[in-house]
Amino acid sequence: MQKYIYQIKDFPLDNDSLLLHETLFHNANGYLGARSNFEEGYPEGYHSIQGQYINGFYDFSTMPQAEKLYGLFEEKQTMLNAVDTQGIELRIDGERFSMFEGKVLERIRTLDMQNGVTIREVLWESPGGKRVLVKVRRMASFNILPLFLVEYTVTALNFSGEAELISSHIGEVMNYFNPDDPRVAGEADKYLLPERDILEGSNSFMLMHTSKSNLRMCSAVRNTLDKATKEKQIKQKGFHTEQILTVECRQGESITLYKETVLCDSVRYSDPVKAAQETLDRIKKTGFTALYQKQRDYLDKFWNECDMEVYGDPELNIAVRYNLYQLMQSVGKDRYSNIAAKGLSGEGYEGHYFWDTEMYMQPFFTLTAREVSKNLIRYRYTILEYAKENARIMGHNKGALYPWRTIMGRECSGYYVSGSAAYHINGDVAYAVISYYLAAGDLELMQECGAEILIETARLWMDTGNYYKGRFHIHEVTGPDEYTCLVNNNYYTNAVAKYNLRWAAKIIDLLAADGMADEVVQKLQITQEELDTFKAAAEAMYLPYDQELGINPQDDSFLEKKIWDVNTIPEDKKPLLLHYHPMHLYRHQICKQADTVMAHFILEDEQDLETMRRSFEYYERVTTHDSSLSPCIFSIMASKLGKSEAAYAYFGESAKLDLFNTHKNTRDGIHTANMGGTYMAIVYGFGGLRIKADGLYLMPALPDQWEGYQFRIRYRDAGIRVSIRPEHCELELLEGDDAVVHVYGKAYELKTEKIIIRRGEQR
Ligand code: BGC
Repeated sequence: MQKYIYQIKDFPLDNDSLLLHETLFHNANGYLGARSNFEEGYPEGYHSIQGQYINGFYDFSTMPQAEKLYGLFEEKQTMLNAVDTQGIELRIDGERFSMFEGKVLERIRTLDMQNGVTIREVLWESPGGKRVLVKVRRMASFNILPLFLVEYTVTALNFSGEAELISSHIGEVMNYFNPDDPRVAGEADKYLLPERDILEGSNSFMLMHTSKSNLRMCSAVRNTLDKATKEKQIKQKGFHTEQILTVECRQGESITLYKETVLCDSVRYSDPVKAAQETLDRIKKTGFTALYQKQRDYLDKFWNECDMEVYGDPELNIAVRYNLYQLMQSVGKDRYSNIAAKGLSGEGYEGHYFWDTEMYMQPFFTLTAREVSKNLIRYRYTILEYAKENARIMGHNKGALYPWRTIMGRECSGYYVSGSAAYHINGDVAYAVISYYLAAGDLELMQECGAEILIETARLWMDTGNYYKGRFHIHEVTGPDEYTCLVNNNYYTNAVAKYNLRWAAKIIDLLAADGMADEVVQKLQITQEELDTFKAAAEAMYLPYDQELGINPQDDSFLEKKIWDVNTIPEDKKPLLLHYHPMHLYRHQICKQADTVMAHFILEDEQDLETMRRSFEYYERVTTHDSSLSPCIFSIMASKLGKSEAAYAYFGESAKLDLFNTHKNTRDGIHTANMGGTYMAIVYGFGGLRIKADGLYLMPALPDQWEGYQFRIRYRDAGIRVSIRPEHCELELLEGDDAVVHVYGKAYELKTEKIIIRRGEQR
C-alpha cells in the first residue's frame, strides 16, 4: 500500500455504495468542490446526488416558523449546487459506455493524496464485444482555485472505430433535499436563475444569479481533445450546452479529452464572466502538465508541514491521512469562507459553518498551516457585524453573538433550542483566537482583528450573565450536548465564557505593553473599568460542582433527571434524534456528545485530575456519541486519564467514521469536524500536547497496538517533529528557531541536535 493512496478495487455498484463513493472520492480545494458523479450518468432507477459547490456561495431560503415568536429566524442560507459540468457521454461506434451494461472486467477508484487527483479506471466490454479502457483523472486545483479539471482517456483495446464524446454543461440544477432527515435540507427550492448563456468559439459560459441573495456566478467549460476531431458540434438549448466531438480511435491508441470547468462567483470577483475568461486564459498559459506539477508541489509542501505516521498499521495510516487531506480540501482559503460541516463534498447541513471549525478543525491548521488558521479568524472578523446584529435580535444591548450556523454571518438555525441558544459558540471562537495566539505568538493578528473578537464576545457574556450570591451565572443556554437544552449554568459554557473574559482583558494588556492597543481601545471605546468587570466576572464565574459525586454536573439540573443508561438503547433506535421526541430526550440524563468532558479537555486547569476522572466515568455511561464530534474527545480524555484501551477504541471510531460509513450518512458528505478530531486524538490525546501561556507541553503515550507514531507541528517559529517509539520519544527541530519543549514535565531546549528521551527517564 502506498503512503498516500486510498484505493478501492471492484468497487460495488449498488446505489448506496455509489452515493457513499460520490462523497469519499469528491474533489475539492477549499473554494470549489465536485462530488464524484459518474460522467456517463446512471441508468434509470439509480439516483445520485449530483453536485458542484462553491464555498460561501449561497442563497437565502425561507424557513417559516409555525408560531411567529419574536426574533425567530425565518430565513436561512443554503450553499448552492452551482452547476453540472461533470457529464461526458462516450459512444463507441454508437454503443454507449455504461458501467451497468456490457461487461465491466475491471474497475478501480483511487484517491491520490500526493498528486491531488482522483482516478477511476474501468476496463469495459461493450455488449457488441468492443473493449476499452476508460481512465478518468479529476483534479480541483489548489493553485487556480476556480478550476476543476476532468481528464478523460479512452483506449481502444481490440478494435478500431469511431468514438463520440458528448460533454455537457448544465446550468439548470437543483439542490438535494430529504424531508425526512433534519440533517439535510427538507425542501426543494430553485435558487439559481439563468441570466446569460454565452458561446465564445466552443467555450461555453453561463452567467447565473441567485433568487434572493443578489449573488452571481459564471461557469465556463472548455473541452480540448489531444487528437484531431473528425467532427465537432455544439448544441445549446436553455442553459444546457452539449459539445459533441467525434474522433477516430485506432486499436491500441488512446484519445484524451481535457474538460476544464471554471467557476467564478461575485463573492470574490466583481465581474464573474470576465474572471472566468481570464482564468481560462491563465490555465492555457500554464498548461496541463505544469498544473499537475503545481498540484504536486502544493501537496508536497502540505504533507511536509503536517504529515503524521502510525508505524505498523498501514491501513490506519491511510485513514488518518485521508482525514487530513479532506481537511485541506474543505477549508476556505480566504476571508469569505470557512469550513462547512461536510466540507465541499455534499449538502448535509446545507454548507453551514458551525463551532466545528474552531473546536475541531482549526487546531490542525493552527499547528501546521498558520496562514489558513489566520484566514479562519479573519472570516469570523468579517462577520462580526452580523454577530452584533444577532446579539441585538437576541435582546443584548452590547457585544456580539456569533450565529450557531451560518454562511454569510446571519443565523440559520430554525430550531433555536439547540441552535441560537448554543451561546458557547462565542467562547469557541474566542478559544480558537487565543489558541492561535498561544501557538504563533502573533500579536499583529490580535491587533488586526483578534482583540476585537475577544472584546465583543466578552461583552456579550457580561450582558448575558448576572451575579447571584456573589457568583456569576449564565442562564438559559444550550451547551455542546444537543440532547440537553436550555439549561442554567452549563459547565462547558461557563468555563469557556470565563476563559473568554479573562483573555479579552489580557490581550488588551499584552497589546498595550507593546504599544499596539490604541487603535482597538479607541475604536471599541474600551475602558479600564470595563476590563476590570471582565476580570471580576471571570473570577466569580460559577462552575457547577457536585460534592456527593465529586464531578462537575453538566448544568444546574442535569443530575436531577432520570438516568438513561446507554447500554439499554437498542441499535435500531440510534441515533436517538431520529426516534425520540426532543422533550423526551431533554428529560433524561442522556448526552448526544461530549460536553463537560470536552470542557475538561480544553480547560484542564479548572479541575483536578480525580474530578475529571470521575466526570469522565459518569458521562461515559450516558453518552450515545450520536454526534460524530464526540468519540475523539472521549479518546483525548481517556488518554489523559491513562485509560489506554478506551482511548484507542474511541480513536478507532473517529478515524474510520467516513471510510467505513459508520454513521451511515456519509453519502450526504464527510464529517469534517470528526476528521479534525482524529488529528486531535493523536496529537492532544496520545501525544498529550498542550500549548499554554508558559509553553509547549507533551506527555506522549504509545498505544499497545502501535509500533510508534510521529507528527509535526509548528510552535512559535519552530517546525518540530515528534516521534514516539516503544523505547523512546524523539524531538527534532525541522526548521526555524530553537524552542523549549516540556516533555513529561521536564523542560528541554530543542536546537539543531535531536533530543531523545528514553523510557526510563520519563515522568
Ligand atoms: C452536533 C453539533 C455539530 C453539528 C454539525 C450536530 O449533530 O450535535 O455539535 O455542530 O452536528 O456538525
